[in-house]
Amino acid sequence: MNCHETQRWLPAYLDGEVDLVSAVAIEEHLKTCARCAQAYTNQQALQTAIRGSGLYQPAPMALQKRIQMSVRQAGNVAPIPRMMRWRWFGVAAALACVAILAWGLGRAWVAPAADDRLATEVLAGHVRSLMADHLADVESSARHTVKPWFAGKLDFSPTVEDLASQGFPLTGGRLDYLDGRPVAALVYQHQRHTINLFSWPAPQANDTAAAAEELQGYHLIHWTQAGMTYWAVSDLNVDELQGFVQLVQRQSGPTLAP
Ligand SMILES: [Zn+2]
Repeated sequence: MNCHETQRWLPAYLDGEVDLVSAVAIEEHLKTCARCAQAYTNQQALQTAIRGSGLYQPAPMALQKRIQMSVRQAGNVAPIPRMMRWRWFGVAAALACVAILAWGLGRAWVAPAADDRLATEVLAGHVRSLMADHLADVESSARHTVKPWFAGKLDFSPTVEDLASQGFPLTGGRLDYLDGRPVAALVYQHQRHTINLFSWPAPQANDTAAAAEELQGYHLIHWTQAGMTYWAVSDLNVDELQGFVQLVQRQSGPTLAP
């Protein structure tokens, strides 16, 4: 996030109205930019001053009554004339056409609503892991250290592969909680980018192809393979993340613990 964006978002940030990812981006920027940090301090002081200044005044009783009366009167709306109804029907039909068109354009990527919710959860898990130094519970590039670490902590055994020779070194693993259950999170690096690879037993047995989506500037790819659900998430560009996913898919065999 740059200075312009940060300062534009500051009032909403102060009111606690920005989403998690934007809030993290703003906090990161404030840590490194003295000018924006000063703007933040000024606005915060102003907010505190306004709140504490006794500027709030309850409306006089007569005014309250008048407002309530006019709201009640506005509630008694006259029925819509027949001509108007047809006009609204036209508007509705036009909106339906736009919706169908938009659906046609957006058909390249189709995912059910449950995946949208899960995508948000996965992204939150990724962002959380980058904050507060909680990237890994077990830090190691050796899959022989990371894989046994999960034993006894999960009711399945995740596939753990180091992909260092292909440019994606494994740096560690941790437990996370997604879709209402504990899941395995493997952490990979590619240049300066962190990739979280989440996996857990799939609710359905059939394999699904990798589906990519973009959420708040991050890329997410998810698929089902050999009874496991996988989600890869990173700020890496989508082509490189897809390359990573193909490597993982090549390594992932049947993984369910007996
Ligand atoms: Zn700045």
